[in-house]
Amino acid sequence: MPLYDFTCRVCGRMFEAMAAMDAGEGICPCGGSAKRLLSVGRGYRADGDWIGSVAAVVEKDSDKPHVRAFLADPSRANYRRWMRGEGIRPLEDGEGRPRATTAPAVGREVLERFKARRGCA
Ligand SMILES: [Zn+2]
Repeated sequence: MPLYDFTCRVCGRMFEAMAAMDAGEGICPCGGSAKRLLSVGRGYRADGDWIGSVAAVVEKDSDKPHVRAFLADPSRANYRRWMRGEGIRPLEDGEGRPRATTAPAVGREVLERFKARRGCA
């Protein structure tokens, strides 16, 4: 059976577990029900693009354990370990998102002006 990443609905922990290909649910070590995440590695590369972009920047010849672990198995759990090992903090909620204050209105106005210039308003 392949190894998948799960996230617990009760405690929020992420963990890896073997599961059948069609299993959407798992059981967390805390006993809570867990949702299967789209997984990477081991031939199943549903979100291999961003993992690939991370793998491209890690030091391939580093002997740091968190780097070796990520390169050996580029799973989400090992990605988190790698981030912690490198001192990279994940974004908090609301951080790093574009501020959607006036942008849509400005976009509409520009579009209307463009249409007017083209004579199709
Ligand atoms: Zn749990």
